[in-house]
Amino acid sequence: MNIDSMFTITYGLYILSSKLGEKYNGHINNTCFQVTAEPPQFAVCSHKDNLTSDYIKQSKVFSISVIQEDVDLNYIGHWGFKSGRDFDKFKDILFKVGVTGAPIVLEKTVSYIECNVVREIDLGTHWLFIGEVQDADFIKKNTPVLTYSYYRNVIKGLSPKNAPTFVDKSKLSQLKEENIKVKVPEKVVSAPKEEYICSVCGYVYDSDEGDPTSGIKPGTHFRDLPEDWVCPICGVEKDMFHLV
Ligand code: FE
Repeated sequence: MNIDSMFTITYGLYILSSKLGEKYNGHINNTCFQVTAEPPQFAVCSHKDNLTSDYIKQSKVFSISVIQEDVDLNYIGHWGFKSGRDFDKFKDILFKVGVTGAPIVLEKTVSYIECNVVREIDLGTHWLFIGEVQDADFIKKNTPVLTYSYYRNVIKGLSPKNAPTFVDKSKLSQLKEENIKVKVPEKVVSAPKEEYICSVCGYVYDSDEGDPTSGIKPGTHFRDLPEDWVCPICGVEKDMFHLV
């Protein structure tokens, strides 16, 4: 079996959100699709460990905010690689409350769909929620939407571990691993600049730029980063990075 072939399946990228009382949460989701027209119903798949799954299970509502193409890894990192159990993701975010009571993200989004849950299917690690559409509208028209392919190939992002499309790096094709190994001596010899990539989110630490968000000055080599430095996007430690 060649796991890389699964990357040929196309997806969009969305913020799947829900509420519990006055609390809101949401996360990046790529498994969202319309399953019937009459009545219009959507299916979304969410890991059981995700806080949003708990909210959907209890409130029986969810919203899908469709992300625009023009976003960066920081935006994805805010919604996709951190847990709403650790901080309020909707604090300082522009959003509105929809007819179902679920929050709708208004920043860097193109449109939204709100649903009442009519069915839940247990998939082991994930819940599949089927929802009947209660409202849908544009936030801004004529704006390209973000696709999974664009995210992987242009923004260079990876899937969080709770995503249905997450692939353990050790299972990627051996060819890719060999390509990385071959490039190492060439880069080190030809250019003093260092680039290390986060194996969790795809963030690249560029020694020429440093990490201004953590006060790391330009020109700081990766090996000289403080031991408590973490990925500014997903928060993992240095040992989760490897040389590009
Ligand atoms: Fe990361």
